[in-house]
Amino acid sequence: MSDRRALSLSTDGLATSLRCPRRYEFAHVHELDDGEDDPPEERRLDLCRQAICDTLRTGHTDADALETAALERFATLWGDRDERYHSFAQRRHERRVLEATIRAYVEAFGAEHASGLAELQAASESAGELIGPELPLSSAVQLPDRETTVEVDAAVDYVVASGSSLTGVRFVPTLTPLGLLRYRDEWEGAVADLFDDHFDPDEETFEPGPAGALLETAVVLDGLRELRDRLGLGDRQCRYLLVPLADQSNTTVNWIRESVETSLDSLDLTDVFLDHHTFGMTLEHRNATVEGRLAAVVGRIVDKQFDPGRQWEQISAHSCENCAYTVCCQEYVSSEVAFDE
Ligand code: SF4
Repeated sequence: MSDRRALSLSTDGLATSLRCPRRYEFAHVHELDDGEDDPPEERRLDLCRQAICDTLRTGHTDADALETAALERFATLWGDRDERYHSFAQRRHERRVLEATIRAYVEAFGAEHASGLAELQAASESAGELIGPELPLSSAVQLPDRETTVEVDAAVDYVVASGSSLTGVRFVPTLTPLGLLRYRDEWEGAVADLFDDHFDPDEETFEPGPAGALLETAVVLDGLRELRDRLGLGDRQCRYLLVPLADQSNTTVNWIRESVETSLDSLDLTDVFLDHHTFGMTLEHRNATVEGRLAAVVGRIVDKQFDPGRQWEQISAHSCENCAYTVCCQEYVSSEVAFDE
């Protein structure tokens, strides 16, 4: 009989453990505050995310109506916001950037996604929630060589029908942490090698960003399948789409006219995640290598294995410099003392 553990983990926690398991222990087991405020791009993201989700909830599917509703909702949220700026000019500029981001979202995705949502709501056999922010999903991960199952939580911001697929859409600040995943569209080859090498302590490769995104994709796609079945949404294949809302690399500012224009990219992680062998065996968007590694990572956390171990060289080279826990970290302090001798 399966033992379903009360312990639940999150994909954010797993991402932290890939950067350093000891850091995970400080942050998620001992719950030590890292003393860091949300960066400005996270706060911008939250404002746009809330305005867009509230707009999708109105049921509008026409682009002009969506843009009007989204900008009105944004104006209300902006007015309620209490954030200090160096000057009125800076505040005005940030508002223009965020309004341009919302217009760019509506232009690139708004009508299509709103229609996809309406299609799902009409098709759903039960009245389940499809719009967030932070629409919760979870995957029951079975630990290796055990009967134990652990829930791993993730979230998307909304779910839409796109063709014959069910797509979970997640707003993120930027796509930069995804590294190589931004430039590849298949698992086989460079992405598979990068993923394997990250977990191989004999390799110099240390890519917790892309590796964590692939683990997250496994959880999200499994959570979407569970949502699909629970809401009676047919046998659609599930997909996972990221939309960056705080990436200003496509933004142009006309300081004379005081106008801002931007455009939005997106990244569908599904193709770079699924391996064709597992797809052929299951006819689902799955990846046996990533799912196996997900179970192993969860198993280490359940077993309280937080020692950096043989990955210490890579962790000390890449993770310690921006870690808030250096003063209480035995590995870091020991390495500093050894260096001074
Ligand atoms: S200081 Fe380095 S080894 Fe210690 S918790 Fe932070 S990242 Fe990990």
